[in-house]
Amino acid sequence: MIPYGLQEITQADVDAVGEVLRSDFLTQGPVVPRFEQTVADYCGASHAIAVNSATSALHIACRALGLGPGDWLWTSPITFVASANCALYCGAQVDFVDIDPRTYNLCPRMLETKLQQAERLCRLPKIVVPVHFSGQPCDMAAIHALGEKYGFKIIEDASHAIGASYHTPDTVKLRTKGPWQSRKSPKTIKIGAGTHSDITVFSFHPVKIITTAEGGMVLTNNRALAEKIALLRSHGITRDPAQMTHESDGPWYYQQIDLGYNYRMTELQAALGVSQMTRLDEYVARRRALAWRYDELLAGLPVTKPWQDLNTHSAWHLYVIRLQLDKIGKTHREVFEDLRAQGIGVNLHYIPIPTQPYYQRMGFKPGDHPEAQRYYAEAISLPMFQTLTNTQQDEVLSALRKAIQA
Ligand SMILES: *Cc1c(COP(=O)(O)O)cnc(C)c1O
Repeated sequence: MIPYGLQEITQADVDAVGEVLRSDFLTQGPVVPRFEQTVADYCGASHAIAVNSATSALHIACRALGLGPGDWLWTSPITFVASANCALYCGAQVDFVDIDPRTYNLCPRMLETKLQQAERLCRLPKIVVPVHFSGQPCDMAAIHALGEKYGFKIIEDASHAIGASYHTPDTVKLRTKGPWQSRKSPKTIKIGAGTHSDITVFSFHPVKIITTAEGGMVLTNNRALAEKIALLRSHGITRDPAQMTHESDGPWYYQQIDLGYNYRMTELQAALGVSQMTRLDEYVARRRALAWRYDELLAGLPVTKPWQDLNTHSAWHLYVIRLQLDKIGKTHREVFEDLRAQGIGVNLHYIPIPTQPYYQRMGFKPGDHPEAQRYYAEAISLPMFQTLTNTQQDEVLSALRKAIQA
């Protein structure tokens, strides 16, 4: 079986983890801060806090932004359940903004319409969570502008998108022969830099771009948010005298000043992360090459290839095709099962969250998000990972040709 995603573990990774095992610290040592600094530097963020999963990262990001009962969080229906569950952990409510039919990301136009309606009902969201689906950045400038207008905070769920970037037209003043002139010059922004959001979250689950087995990270440029997130990661306990309610009782002293959790990453995981980070750009480049090759190989077949906004560079976590079922004499399920039977580990990302039984019980109706529903009826994720070979990719294609011929 060729899986849809697979990690790569090198001898250098094994050595890095072995070194930590033989050291004095298995947790709360020097390697977690080193991993945090490595990721922060790579992305151009001021603060990074490593945690034990992206799910934990989303939870404490919401807590740090003050999400609670009576508040709303909006996200995309086409994402992993964790992007929405984080609101429920905080006692807040969730709603969904339908996807753009080309990028499958939360649609900024529909977001605006929904915000106008919500404003009339006095039900504006406190937080919006754009998800960079498959690794392709959302239109962050547009979402950020709406955030300024309607007063919501933004958490980027970048679980798919470490290593991705986008361009934004940035007005710069240029001295030409005459007077000063403004000219639009594009600026490249790495996902995680936080230019258009409050917080960004990464996942290091093995199917993602780089891995720490389980693991996640929270990035922000806001010092107060970073301190709050670090506190919530570790029981709400501080040893910093500046944060205490009164003077320290002695050298043993700490104070619990908030209700936190144990969401810490281990030193072993961080060592794996530091080692994997050295190959991040190489991984994204290989994924991009595989995506372009898929694009060529799929030419002429009755499938819709992943559309790319030219202002973005995807990290290519997923390569999702949509079956043009009117041209294929088979059902979506038949093609999917045929591919699995031929040893191709295809998958489907994702089942629309509002159709999950847990969410149905909250009153979401199947017709609420028509673009997400249409997507779900046609989508298939083809194998995509850095060590996928061209030969394996050719096998995927010949299996797909067989599966879709009538
Ligand atoms: C994988 C994933 C998560 C959860 O990540 P974990 O590290 O497994 O908790 C959240 N959101 C999205 C979009 C994901 O793909």
